[in-house]
Amino acid sequence: MHKQIDFILVNTSHPGNIGAAARAMKTMGFKNLVLVAPKQFPHAEADALAASAIDVLQQARVTATLDEALTGVTCVIGTSARQRDLAAPLLRPRECGDWLSAKSTTGRIAFLFGAERTGLTNEALDRCHAYVCIDTADEYSSLNLAQAVQIMAYELHLALSADAFTLSEGSEIALADDVAMEGYFQHLERIMVLTQFLDPKFPKRLMSRLKRLYHRARPDVQELNILRGILTAVEKKIDS
Ligand code: SAH
Repeated sequence: MHKQIDFILVNTSHPGNIGAAARAMKTMGFKNLVLVAPKQFPHAEADALAASAIDVLQQARVTATLDEALTGVTCVIGTSARQRDLAAPLLRPRECGDWLSAKSTTGRIAFLFGAERTGLTNEALDRCHAYVCIDTADEYSSLNLAQAVQIMAYELHLALSADAFTLSEGSEIALADDVAMEGYFQHLERIMVLTQFLDPKFPKRLMSRLKRLYHRARPDVQELNILRGILTAVEKKIDS
């Protein structure tokens, strides 16, 4: 089941952190490292800190955009040092296993880690179905990136290794992946603006709230096709 989980590092600045993250992952049985627009990679410092996890670095998938990284991913969990006013459920690392198992998610699961200085962007946070915050002292809550990866990898390894743990291996119809969902959200937003349901000057939190609703519903590929079809029909009617 470890194979079903991707660790996605977004815009990482320090190559040493990439190497240390690869090592953290491998010690817990995870191999799928995805790097979205890393500042410097490959790099000697990444190799040095990876130690015997050099294979994880060599197999790492490097993408230019988050979109590319999330192709085929049906469940996205964002890690954040700050407990922001977030729309999706906020979990502790130890709760992730139960949460995932209750969702019986098919398809790939991705954990997102932000850049050292800035964390995850709002755009990336909006793609998440849940967030994880590692408990810390009140005084200083921001862990080193690779250490955050280590804690998450450890907790997931424990959860996935437990006898009772199950992730369903695939139902009849595949869940829509994150990229398909994003395409739908953009279409929906366009139609809401066209029909003047949404005023783009005052969007408030409408799209975030709708995303939360659809992430909860987790439409499969056929259901998403129906939803897209409805939007296309509305669009045609407006154009005619
Ligand atoms: N100032 C940034 C800190 C970024 S630290 C912020 O407020 O988000 C780099 C990354 O390490 C974060 O984006 C997150 O992925 C991870 N991280 C650091 N501390 C964490 C914590 N307490 N809980 C969960 N993830 C954490």
